[in-house]
Amino acid sequence: MQRFATARDAALQLRPDEPVYCFRPKVLVEEAHNFMAMFPGETAYAVKTNGENIVLETLARNGVHTFDVASPGEFAAVRRVAPDAQMLYMHPIKAQSDIRLALETYGIRVLAADHEDEIAKITRIVRALDIDPGSITLYIRLQTKGHAAYELSKKFGAAPAHAVELLQRADRIGYRVGICFHVGSQIEDPDTYERALRAADWVRNRAGVTLAGLDVGGGFPAEYRPDPKRKGTEMPGLGQLMSRLRNDIDEYGFGDLPLVAEPGRVIVAKAFSLIVRVLLRKGKRLYINDGIWASLSDSWTGKITLPARFIPDPAKKIRHGNADNVVPFRVCGATCDSVDILSRPFWLPETVDTGDWIEIGNIGAYSLSLRTRFNGFYPDTFVEVETTFEAGETPEGLASLETMSPGE
Ligand SMILES: *Cc1c(COP(=O)(O)O)cnc(C)c1O
Repeated sequence: MQRFATARDAALQLRPDEPVYCFRPKVLVEEAHNFMAMFPGETAYAVKTNGENIVLETLARNGVHTFDVASPGEFAAVRRVAPDAQMLYMHPIKAQSDIRLALETYGIRVLAADHEDEIAKITRIVRALDIDPGSITLYIRLQTKGHAAYELSKKFGAAPAHAVELLQRADRIGYRVGICFHVGSQIEDPDTYERALRAADWVRNRAGVTLAGLDVGGGFPAEYRPDPKRKGTEMPGLGQLMSRLRNDIDEYGFGDLPLVAEPGRVIVAKAFSLIVRVLLRKGKRLYINDGIWASLSDSWTGKITLPARFIPDPAKKIRHGNADNVVPFRVCGATCDSVDILSRPFWLPETVDTGDWIEIGNIGAYSLSLRTRFNGFYPDTFVEVETTFEAGETPEGLASLETMSPGE
């Protein structure tokens, strides 16, 4: 992988016409260590957030020994780069053949379920393979309520009273049992984890079984740009959120249990930025060489405002407008699909034009893991970048909404 000090250097030297992912291994390691230092339990990286070999490898080489996986593709991806890593198979609804593969071939011994029929599926295979249920930890996934960019409580999780029954059922079969929840991705309400812990407490008290662990899932928010259009509680930083989580864990009496978290986004978001090129400017519209079917689907569906930095092409001698005037541009993606238009504008100097580049920051999560080959576009070029996105020079202004507020 070619290395550059900054994404600007990469753009100006490579003059790329295709999108370029700028990987920052140091940032990835720092963010992982930061999380692990704050979370009082095992940190299981959620592979679906960004399952690239370089990401898994960098994490595995730097102290991440546990991975949250959901499919045969993810089992294989982890095994390939981290043969000794522990895998937690936390998908609550699994194919029979995948359960068998997990137990038999990959030696996975931690699974999740949110329904009695799923417990029955798992148990059939456990019996067929003559595995001692006592060697398996079965987490019962609890439904949670809260606000996140992505709500998952409507899709997965047992209601509290149902979870009580499931815990008792799994315990009777002989499994080690735990409670898990996943509050959704990019939580937008600081009370989210407390509400989930309160529900877990209720369930534990009624189930009357010995718990082998509590898994608080993912959802920890990455720092994007504030979106003034969206009303809601101001989110505290990760440090504050974590200190509250630690307190709540103790307060609800879970402090003595083995704890697990499954962070994805918060660990990998800042580890990548993306260089895109303006294929054409049409008034206040920019047509770029990436879009919602490639790296930008998360910012589209999650209505996430990403930071963008203008990298003007120095070969362009004539410019119109004032470089200090930062204005919103509607951003259209590369495909011929009419929905391929970002839901949030990019704020850029009004001088931006056809042929310029834009570095989109904090794009490591749910970006390249969600890209499709739709319309024949498939960004797959990677470079390594040494400095953080924030450290990059900003002579043209970091094109964020903040730049627009007076007094800054
Ligand atoms: C997606 C997912 C995660 C990771 O969520 P983030 O919001 O990226 O931290 C963790 N656990 C489960 C079960 C998931 O489905």
